[in-house]
Amino acid sequence: MTTPEQIPFLRLDRQFAEHRDAFMAAMLPVFESGAVLQGPPVAAFENALAKTLSANHAVAVGSGTDAMILSLMALGLPEGSRVAVPALTFVASASAILHNRCVPVFVDCDPHTGLAREGILLDLIARRSVDAIIVVHLYGQLQDLDAVGPAAKAAGIVIVEDAAQAIGATRHGVPVGRAGAITAISFDPMKVIGAFGSGGAVITNDAELAARVRQLRYHGHDGKGNYLRPGFNCQMHSLQAALLAVKLGQMQAWQTRRTVIAAIFDEHLRQVPGARRLATLSGNIHNHHKYVLWIDRREELRTALAGKGIQTKVHYEVPLHRQPLFAAWAASPACPEAEAAAAHVLSLPMYPELTDDEARRIALAARTALETLA
Ligand SMILES: *Cc1c(COP(=O)(O)O)cnc(C)c1O
Repeated sequence: MTTPEQIPFLRLDRQFAEHRDAFMAAMLPVFESGAVLQGPPVAAFENALAKTLSANHAVAVGSGTDAMILSLMALGLPEGSRVAVPALTFVASASAILHNRCVPVFVDCDPHTGLAREGILLDLIARRSVDAIIVVHLYGQLQDLDAVGPAAKAAGIVIVEDAAQAIGATRHGVPVGRAGAITAISFDPMKVIGAFGSGGAVITNDAELAARVRQLRYHGHDGKGNYLRPGFNCQMHSLQAALLAVKLGQMQAWQTRRTVIAAIFDEHLRQVPGARRLATLSGNIHNHHKYVLWIDRREELRTALAGKGIQTKVHYEVPLHRQPLFAAWAASPACPEAEAAAAHVLSLPMYPELTDDEARRIALAARTALETLA
């Protein structure tokens, strides 16, 4: 008996093999020019990104985490400001608040989508109990801001969008980043457009915010010889920008491919006991960054899939209000749905380089295991 080929959670090796020539060709001019920091590829990538997202300004930085921290810093929230953030998200969505000496207010999730519960956001706005809101477009679909956006605006509450997972997604046909003042993007290797290392960007339509982020990413320098404020050194390297430009060119094709894979998963897992896929809101185009199921007996399924060579992950095992980092703010409103989600969500392997056969193997293995568990 032969053991089936492993299906890892990510296959960047396949992606490289497929686009090897384009990657190599993009890198050579950087090496040859010697302009390795803030060279022409950075500006070119910023322009391409702004165009892709229909934004006026894009500022490339070192990571999505940098993008979150600098976005909040550019807004200049006074120390102690209260900032709403989902309990079910990656740590960087909320640690940016602490870096800015502000106070996180954790928001519970909707069990159907995993996104922040709209009713809680509207309530926080109505009671003016936060000064800013971080929305996280979790797993690759946009938070519904149809009502939250105007309500926040009327109340003078600023919205920051964490779009680390959502490039390519749209709501009512509009790309991410239009509902908030400023938006953070990540090019972590796990994300749909991933650097060969770390990368991130801030997008905004506000020229002043963009200028502030530009200053902050390099020592508060205004580009004219003056250092205006304490800043950082979190530039995107020219090499990464050149490589990311190649990947940005593949964004639509890759998303189309992920959509096909999601349809294969859906087809086989639609009516299986003990499992449901997290819902996509009507009006949303999901970028299928993550394919997330709610599984009644998750750990048993994970073990069964691992036995078939299929690697899965959990996003996220511990909701943020339960993390030691946020212990001091954990008493803010309870987040029972985020706790339940953390115990039941499961992410299947999802990348354009999966073959149809592999996608079917994953789905059928999950179905068989779930039927046995039922
Ligand atoms: C990945 C991620 C970040 C951080 O991006 P990095 O590039 O890894 O620093 C922030 N928020 C969310 C929701 C993420 O998924």
